[in-house]
Amino acid sequence: MDRSALAERYEAIKGSIPDHVTLVAVSKTRSVSEIKAVYDLGHRAFGENYPQELKEKQPQLPSDIEWHFIGHLQSNKVKYIAPFVHLVHGVDSIKLLDELEKRAKSNHRIQDVLLQVHIAQEETKHGFSHEEIMALFEGTGSDPWPSLRIRGLMGMASNTDNLEQVRGEFKSLAGLFEVMKKRPGPHRPSFDTLSMGMSGDADEAISAGSTMVRIGTAIFGNRP
Ligand SMILES: *Cc1c(COP(=O)(O)O)cnc(C)c1O
Repeated sequence: MDRSALAERYEAIKGSIPDHVTLVAVSKTRSVSEIKAVYDLGHRAFGENYPQELKEKQPQLPSDIEWHFIGHLQSNKVKYIAPFVHLVHGVDSIKLLDELEKRAKSNHRIQDVLLQVHIAQEETKHGFSHEEIMALFEGTGSDPWPSLRIRGLMGMASNTDNLEQVRGEFKSLAGLFEVMKKRPGPHRPSFDTLSMGMSGDADEAISAGSTMVRIGTAIFGNRP
C-alpha cells in the first residue's frame, strides 16, 4: 500500500465534497491496514457490502468507526451485523425490515436504515418502486418497526456514460425524497438522508441533492 498516494486521493475527494454531504469511504475488499490508513487521516464512516467480510473486519478496527452496510442484504445475514452496524443503506423489502426490527430489538438498539429505490434502467439493481415507497407510509395504524428509524432513501443510477440519464435518475429520486420528507408519519422527524453517488457519478448526485455519497475506487484505487 502506498500511504501517501492513498492520503492524497482521500484529501482530494474530501476537499471536493460540500460540508453538508457525508462521505462514506467504501472499503469492500480492502484490507484492515488500508482502512486503518484512512481512519488515521481522521475518517470514520466506512461502507461494506458483504456481511461476513464486515463481521470479520469490525473487531480488528477501532470501535468508533461508523460502519455503513451498503450492499444487498439477505435476511438470514442480518444477525452478523445487527449488533454494531451504524446505517443499513439497501433495505429493499418488507421481509428485510421485519428482520432488522427483530434483530434491533434483541440487541436493544434503535437501528437507522435507508430504503433502496430502484431508479436505474438495469433489471439487476434492487429496490422498491416509487409507488411501493409511498404505500409503505400510507398506513395510519401503529408503527410496525418501532426499533427502526427510516432515515431516508438510497439509490444507484444506471451504469452508463450517458450523464443526462444519470442526472435524470438522481433527480427523480431526489423528488421522491422531498415528497416523503413532507409526509406525516412516524419516520418523519429523522427522515434526512439521501444516499446517492459513487466514484463515477458523485458530482451529478450532489448537484441533484444527495446528502451522502459512497465512494470506493476514487479513494482506494481500483479494486483487485
Ligand atoms: C461498491 C459500491 C460503491 C462504491 O463504488 P465505487 O465506484 O468504487 O466508488 C458504492 N455503492 C455501492 C452500493 C457499492 O456496491
